[in-house]
Amino acid sequence: MADHHTSQRQLFESQPQWVEDDARRGTIATVVLPDGVEKPLDYLVPESLLATVEPGRRVRVPLGRANRERIAYCVAIRSGELPSTPLKSVAGVEDDSPLLSPRMLDLTQWMSRRWMARWGEVLEAVLPAGVRLQRRSRMAPLLVATGATPVRKPTPSQLQVLAAAATAITAEELSRQSGASKAIISRLLRCGLLTQAGSTERSTRLLKSGLVKSDRTPISHDRPEQLSSAQSSALEAILTPLRAGRHETIVLFGVTGSGKTEVYLQAVEETLSYGKQAIVLVPEISLTPQTCDRFRARFGSVAVLHSHLTATERHAQWREISAGRVGVIVGARSAIFAPAPRLGLIVIDEEHETSFKQATAPRYHARDVAEWIAKAEGVPLVLGSATPSLETFARCLRGEWKMCSLANRVGGSQLPAVLTVDLRDPKSRSLGAVSPRLTAGIKWALAGGGQVMLLLNRRGFATHVQCRACGHTARCPQCDIALTLHQPGNRGICHGCGLVSRLPGKCPACNAPELTQRGTGTQRLEEQIRACFPEARVARMDTDTMRSRGSHERTLDAFRAREIDILVGTQMIAKGLDFPAVMLVGVVNADAALHLADFRAAERTCQLVTQVSGRSGRGPLGGRVVVQTSTPDHPAILAAASHDYEAFVRSELPIREALSYPPFGSIVRIVVRSVDEQAVSNWATHIADRLRVEVATRANPVALRVLGPAPAPITRLRDRFRWHLQVQGPDGEILREIVSKVTASLKTPDNVAWIVDVDPVEML
Ligand code: ADP
Ligand code: ZN
Repeated sequence: MADHHTSQRQLFESQPQWVEDDARRGTIATVVLPDGVEKPLDYLVPESLLATVEPGRRVRVPLGRANRERIAYCVAIRSGELPSTPLKSVAGVEDDSPLLSPRMLDLTQWMSRRWMARWGEVLEAVLPAGVRLQRRSRMAPLLVATGATPVRKPTPSQLQVLAAAATAITAEELSRQSGASKAIISRLLRCGLLTQAGSTERSTRLLKSGLVKSDRTPISHDRPEQLSSAQSSALEAILTPLRAGRHETIVLFGVTGSGKTEVYLQAVEETLSYGKQAIVLVPEISLTPQTCDRFRARFGSVAVLHSHLTATERHAQWREISAGRVGVIVGARSAIFAPAPRLGLIVIDEEHETSFKQATAPRYHARDVAEWIAKAEGVPLVLGSATPSLETFARCLRGEWKMCSLANRVGGSQLPAVLTVDLRDPKSRSLGAVSPRLTAGIKWALAGGGQVMLLLNRRGFATHVQCRACGHTARCPQCDIALTLHQPGNRGICHGCGLVSRLPGKCPACNAPELTQRGTGTQRLEEQIRACFPEARVARMDTDTMRSRGSHERTLDAFRAREIDILVGTQMIAKGLDFPAVMLVGVVNADAALHLADFRAAERTCQLVTQVSGRSGRGPLGGRVVVQTSTPDHPAILAAASHDYEAFVRSELPIREALSYPPFGSIVRIVVRSVDEQAVSNWATHIADRLRVEVATRANPVALRVLGPAPAPITRLRDRFRWHLQVQGPDGEILREIVSKVTASLKTPDNVAWIVDVDPVEML
């Protein structure tokens, strides 16, 4: 009625006086830009767009003095009085329906505060690029034989095409099935023997990528008749809150092979039986093909979100999931944002893995995001690991999360005996990187008809090249990192930036002719093993040999088929693999990561050695582990060698507590970078000073510490100098508030860049 009234008056009055009064009320959309402007902005929603502007859709808005149109996310809508300063109007709506539910909007806002990231940045991160670009599958026309009488007798190849086109088929598929060229098909179309009959989505890759069973030979992982009693009580702990429709976090702390995956599978099964969906996060999809296969073998509709999907495939899967047509979603970190409308369960396998934290902004941790979602949706969250992170362990000790232990392997197989070899003993070095005892172990396994896995967490041939006379080490020209020697070709490759350089023939510092290759990488290890065991079939698995798509699966399939006797590799081989014939696992250098300048170095070492040890002795042949180390008495090594991860936790927690390191406190790390070394140190010092001033004004400044600034452990990367500083304290919220307050008013010089990492998982 009011509308009618105003339009009537509009006809008669050119400059109506009532506009003033009416304009005080209206509908306002709050929008967030993906980049540039940090603050949410308010725009007026014009009447023509009232029906379509809604939270979760993207809109076009004019920005700046030039009113350039930008795409922004509408995050809220309200009607009411307009502010006294005039608002610009929304120019248009971008999406047919919301891309983000109200809950996802809440989540992204929380994430932006939790990890000090811009809201727009978070919004972009939770939507796959294919969805943002609205990338739809291209349509492919369908062809069908018309059955018309041919003027001339068709050739044999034309007949084959017509036979294959008896039912509608795409041109691509037709040519594949009949072996005919495009030209033959075109000719048949021209002379009316073939015709177009509608079209179909070109989504063959999508099917292969996961919505349908994998085309790789599934390993038979039948549902076991009976769960072990530890498995039963773990499953019960998950099903109780699941059935009650409430949130609870359950940690499955189970040695490798204790049947954790079976518990996930049965919990997912029950979730599906209620018509609900389950999200299963795994560390890196390409590293856990076996886990994916087991989910695919057990359930009909599994979407596997892996990094090889194209934007179009992602978009298609996203739509399938949001339409509720997919029951199980398996994927890496970002799969936690899968838009499942009927979520019933979240599982995170190998929850201690650092890949669950994103290394670029927004630097979120999928475990915390999963907890937020599980709480909001009222569903159980299951975290599983043989070596839970100390953060998770502490939450269980505090009684916030429920821990279920699975202390034994299923089927009665024993954990392997672990032998440590002290590398300080010269005798153990006599044969190069492989000690006599490790050699004896390999012989034992091969003689017993078993397989061997050797872990060395360093790629390349030699880890550095050094002058024997003056000690000079060849370094990357643009990073402060020693060059790793790669063969063939005597190339020096920087593992920081990937730059390849020719290694000098003589020392650039003192001209001495003799440069020695120090430290063994996987390449040299492979060479030594081949020389030692000429009759064994040896393969290497690291990022150098696994560059091509599918190479990882091929190598693992060959290993499973017993076409490989000895598998040499980096931590790639440590995870989630179940090969019953592995009788020996050798850890060539357990200390490789122990002395890194990172407070989690011991935890990482214990986790890696425990994980890789768990690959041994899974079958009836039994197994052993040989761990080579220069620090056999380190608690991390001792605990891994005695399969007593809890002992490590007990020794490590008091150390963390004394220093207020996580899980007893929070850390905000700031990394400053610039090509100008002086500028880096000045700016890092400036930020640290401002932080110290702010900290001093707080009620309890003693509990808060500002550490640094100091050069970061990797002091130069890609020609940029790097300095870092940290703020630590018991309460993360207070730290974030202090850092926000200080950084909000900074006027960053042009030649300096800096990032904030809340609760970092690596400190290099
Ligand atoms: P984890 O995930 O803890 O490493 P898995 O679930 O992979 O353990 O179990 C290890 C092996 O034991 C797998 O081959 C699995 O099929 C099998 N398994 C699991 N639970 C049982 C059971 N209750 N009875 C018999 N076999 C089982
Ligand atoms: Zn470099």
